[in-house]
Order: sequence, then C-alpha cells, then structure tokens
Amino acid sequence: MTASTRYPLLFSPLDLGFTRLKNRVLMGSMHTGLEEAPDGFERMAAFFAERARGGVGMIITGGIGPNAEGGIGAKLSTEAEAASHRIVTAAVHAADPEVKICMQILHAGALSSSEQCVAPSAIKSRVGRHTPAALDEAGIEKQIADFANCARLARAAGYDGVEIIGSAGYLISTFLVARTNLRTDRWGGAWENRMRFPVEVVRRVRAAVGADFIVIFRIPAMDMLDGGMSWEEVVALGQAVEAAGASIVSTHFTWHEAAVPTIATMVPRAAFTQVTGRLRKALKIPAITSNRINMPDVAESVLARGDADIVSMARPMLADAELALKALQGREDEINTCIACNQACLDHSYSGRRQVSCLVNPRACNETLLNYAPVQAPRNLAVVGAGPAGLAYATVAAQRGHRVTLFESAGEIGGQFNLARRIPGKEEFSETLRYYRRMIEVHGIELRLNTRADAATLRDMGFDEVIVATGIEPRRPDIEGIGHPKVAGYIDVILGRRPVGRSVAIVGAGGIGFDVAELVSHAGKSAALDIDTFAREWGIDFRNHPRGGVTGVTPQVAAAERTVYLMQRKPDPVGKNLGRTTGWTHRLTLKRRGVHLLNGVEYLKIDDAGLHTRVHGEPKLFEVDTVIVCAGQLPLRSLYDALQACGVKASLIGGAYEAVELDAKRAIDQASRMAAAA
Ligand code: NAP
Ligand code: SF4
Repeated sequence: MTASTRYPLLFSPLDLGFTRLKNRVLMGSMHTGLEEAPDGFERMAAFFAERARGGVGMIITGGIGPNAEGGIGAKLSTEAEAASHRIVTAAVHAADPEVKICMQILHAGALSSSEQCVAPSAIKSRVGRHTPAALDEAGIEKQIADFANCARLARAAGYDGVEIIGSAGYLISTFLVARTNLRTDRWGGAWENRMRFPVEVVRRVRAAVGADFIVIFRIPAMDMLDGGMSWEEVVALGQAVEAAGASIVSTHFTWHEAAVPTIATMVPRAAFTQVTGRLRKALKIPAITSNRINMPDVAESVLARGDADIVSMARPMLADAELALKALQGREDEINTCIACNQACLDHSYSGRRQVSCLVNPRACNETLLNYAPVQAPRNLAVVGAGPAGLAYATVAAQRGHRVTLFESAGEIGGQFNLARRIPGKEEFSETLRYYRRMIEVHGIELRLNTRADAATLRDMGFDEVIVATGIEPRRPDIEGIGHPKVAGYIDVILGRRPVGRSVAIVGAGGIGFDVAELVSHAGKSAALDIDTFAREWGIDFRNHPRGGVTGVTPQVAAAERTVYLMQRKPDPVGKNLGRTTGWTHRLTLKRRGVHLLNGVEYLKIDDAGLHTRVHGEPKLFEVDTVIVCAGQLPLRSLYDALQACGVKASLIGGAYEAVELDAKRAIDQASRMAAAA
C-alpha cells in the first residue's frame, strides 16, 4: 500500500481560495522559549525549516504579543521587530516553498508577564502574576489596533498568515465569559456584547492584511470552565468570526485555570475532536482540530470521521520533525512518537526557566547546537543496558556510522520504560520502545538480549569503548523488618510478580511511588484508552455540552478497591516535585480514588501487624498486608568498575552515572549528547 492510499485524506491538498495547503498536517503553535533567546530567531529558523522539510503543510509559530502589555515574551509591534522574523519565514519557504507559516498573535491579557497587563475587568487570574487594569473604551480600541498592526507586520515579515488566539484564558477569551468580564458597557453583559471584542479583532485584522492572507481564529470550543461558554455561544462565535473574515477556525479545549487535563498522557488519543466535528458542521470555513493526535493513523481517522479539515500536532512535531514525511513514505514505524509526558516541553515552558525541548528528542529546539553528524572513522562500540539511556546512545551512535553492539540482560529492551508502559495512563511509553526496536533494525545495531556482559568478555571482544548504561537498583531503606515477607519491591509489583494485599503502604512518594499508587488503586479500563471513561472521570459531558463542557457534571471516579497509603518522610506536600503541568492530575486522581497521601512519616518497623510509624511525631500503626518500597534508586556501577580495573575504555551514562532524581529526560538527553560527540 502506498502512503497516499494509506492516508488519502491527510495528504490531500486544501484549497483556501487565494492559496492552497499541500496537505492537512499542521504543526500547531507551541511556545518554545526561542522567541526570547538571544540567538532565538536563528534557532527558530532551523527548528521550523527542519519541520518544513519533514513534510508538514502549515506551521504556526509560538505566541508573539501584539504589544508590550499583552506579552508573555516576544512582541511584534514595530518594523524593526518584523525584520528579525524574516529569517524564520525565509528559512521555511526555502526549505519548501509550498509550506505555509503563520505567526500566532497571543495577547495574554491577565496572564501577561507585564505589570501593565490589561483585561476586560480587573480580575487577577489564579495562574497570573499581576492584577490587570480594566480597559476603558480607548484602551480597548488600542488593543484592537495593536492586533491589526501586528498582523500587518507579520505579513510584511513574510508570514503566510496569522493565528489569533481567542482561547485559554488569554485576553480575547476573558471577554467571552461572565466570570472574567464584569463590564456593563457595550463590551460586556449580554452575549452579543461579550462577543464583540473577538469579532472586532478579526474584522480589523482582516482589513489590515487584505483578502489573500490566512487568518486563523483559535476558538474556545470547550473551555472546561464551570460557567464557561455554552455550545450555542461557541457556534455563534464561530459563525461571527467567519463572517468577520477568518479563513480557518481552530478549536481549543482548555483554559489555564481549568481542572481538567486535555493534553496529558492520560487523555485518550483524539478525545476532543468530536467537538470540532460538531462545530465544523455549523461553519463554511475549514476547521482545525487538535489534542492528543500523535500518529498519522489517528489523524487520518479524525479526518475520515469528518471531525476536521486539518489536524494540528504540536508536541508530536517536537518529538519527530519528520512525522509527516515518514507517514507519506510508509515509514510510520520509524516515527518517534510524542508520549504526552510534557516533561521537556510544557513543564519547561511553564516553569519559565528552561527552554523547551522534548524528552524523546533532545534535538528539538536545539537544531543548530546538537547534530548527529556522520563519523569519518567508525569505531566499535559496546553499549551495555537497553534502557532509555542505552537505547538513545546506541541509536545516535549507530546513526552516525559507529558499529554498535547493544547488550541487555533481560529478554526485551526498555529498562524503566518497560515498567512505565504498564502503568494505566502511560500506555504511550510502548511507542518509544517500538521506535527504538525499529531504530535497532534501521541502523544495524547488533542486539544481544538475555546477555549479562562481563568485563573480561567485553575486553576480549576488543571494543574501542564500552558505554555502561546498566541503570539503577532500587534503594532498600534501612527500616527494621525490611526483609519481612509483606515487603515488596516496586519492580516485582509492576511486573505482576508479587501479589498485592487489600491494604497497602507505599514507602516513597516520588514519580515511581505515584505510578505504583496509580497501579494498585486502579480498577477497570484505563481512562487513557477509553474516551467515555475519561469523560466520566473528569466530569466532561461531550453529549450535552453544558457551559464549558463541565458545568453541573460531577467527576465519577471508582474508589480504589484497596486501602492505599502513599507516604514520604518530608513535610512537603506529597507530589510537590511531580511535573509542573501534570502533577496536579496525578494528585487529584489518587485523592478522588481515596488514596491517603501522607507526609512527615517516620518509618519505625515492619512486622506481622503492619508498618509502625510516627506521623508528624504521633505513633501510628498502618495495619497493611503489603508494604511496597519506592524509595529511590542507587546507581549500578559494578561493571564500570570492573572495566576500569581491566583497562578497558568505558563511559557511564544514565542511572549508572547518576541515579539521584534521574528521569528519562535526563538519561536520553545525556546519552544523545555523548553519542553525538563519540
Ligand atoms: P524519587 O523521585 O527520588 O523519589 C524517591 C522517594 O523515596 C521520595 O518520595 C523520598 O521521599 C523517598 N525516599 C528516599 N530515600 C528514602 C529512604 N532512605 N527511606 C524511605 N524513603 C526514602 O525517585 P523515584 O520515585 O524512584 O523516581 C525515580 C525517577 O524517575 C524520578 O526522577 C522521577 O521523577 C522519575 N519518574 C517520573 C515519573 C513521572 O511521572 N514524571 C514517573 C516515574 C518516575 P522522602 O525522602 O521524603 O521519604
Ligand atoms: Fe511529547 Fe513529552 Fe516530547 Fe513534550 S517532552 S513533545 S510531551 S514526548
């Protein structure tokens, strides 16, 4: 089967009248932090050009403010600022003249980083830094004029269009709902008034850019807010922006203050596209859908259902710049799939301290800095351990031309990822292992499973270098009775090698403690694999679409069939160090299931009666059947030491190098960088 017949809809062109998209694959907007970096425009140019070569039809940049008061970073309000964007648009058009690039205009309103931020009413957002000033009539006119000016400058800078973000809690969306718009003038109150600002922005932007320029409006199709927009309002807004000159409507399903996950890994693939499908029927212009669409077959079925005209993938384009090209060429098993972990993208973006990249692809946003150039003199390398670090090293080194032999003592590759993929809600981790399995074939890596490599054998095999990626061993805390039969290690529990009783204490509440709590408190289908279950658990009513999609709907989470205590010694809130954008979902899920989250626990003894502790100084016996130890990791370095002793050149990577706070992001990043320099 050729690619075009496998994804006939995805790779069909879309005629917009004045222009044409070569296919329906959109690289969605994602703030990368490059917008504000000193060499950011050069790096952005390389980043987007690589995606243009990788087969996308259209690209939307990260958000650019139309003025200083609306920004979260870079703005475009002067001719001089427009000049620096030219390098980006020129690079994309040079990479493929058929690819369109649109700039997102993001006026953050109450979420702006500026102390001079503005909004329809002076209401501070729970997630904003400052209380915004309420706009007066002249202020509203200035904001609209700034949108139009920004769009005009974007055109001058070589963009093919703009996307106006009218959702998520940014300025435009705060006009739309009563909770953030308390005005009683012609910009507030009745729905017709609340809708006036977005419609006027689109009308004035269209007037500023002319008829032959793409104007996309990002609409809050389901804002997930209690008391948010009704379905009738969503449709009316879509039709009004269409009449005002929008070329395309792009549906958005969140608001920064909403307590519903919409893109995290526990969200089923394509969970929200049905909403776009309904809106699309009420519009004449094309509709873009998004959220958890990470593989071409998912995108194709979204289009086949009639849910959208264009499919947006933002994070999947970080994970693999060539996603579309690989799909087109029938190489979809080579796609490095976005696993929706958020760890290197949104967690970095929202922390504001670190630039965005991708856990499974550290080259993302580092295209000018990290390259896997072919080697002149291939070497004979052994990589010991096929966990995330070993797999990443072996793949990059072999891709560059080194001869790589990969040793793994287990019967399958994956290491810690083989544990993660068994956790309900983390099924996507299997995709990463599928990718690496394929890379082993593509790059001719010699894989030796069920092989515990020892130093003498490795020396005798004559490798130029041995890369030790032997990983970690779980820490066994020094608690009296730790050898009691009711104590289990997390690996045995996750692999199903140890039965778990009706009442469980989990010692250690890091990432793995949370994973184990999820596993042992879970019953029934994984919500990540079933949209109805997901909707029930998070209180979303797709069928009736009440205000915000959630108003009046109570989340229904099945209580855990076990009594589960998740414990840590620190006095900090349990789960404080989980991912910034996903930690709250894990905490909330466990609480709704009735899992007890305990801090300030001192472990005294484990015996037939259970786990004896002091909790904030008070003696407490937990009469549990099973104690699962998730108390962190120690590096496994004995092979490295033995190699050193027999004079073999060796390097340490991943958990074997440093186990403290190790995660796959650090392991893959370190391994890829070392292999790039090998
Ligand atoms: P971790 O995050 O370092 O957590 C270890 C836990 O064990 C902490 O709660 C710690 O809390 C406790 N602990 C440490 N020493 C102890 C001792 N001697 N006795 C009793 N308790 C002890 O390690 P992890 O949970 O094993 O995770 C490993 C890595 O994988 C982490 O970096 C994690 O981020 C990553 N991971 C991430 C996710 C995710 O969802 N993002 C999922 C799985 C794993 P106290 O010291 O307060 O007791
Ligand atoms: Fe996807 Fe995770 Fe990469 Fe973000 S860091 S793009 S969520 S795989």
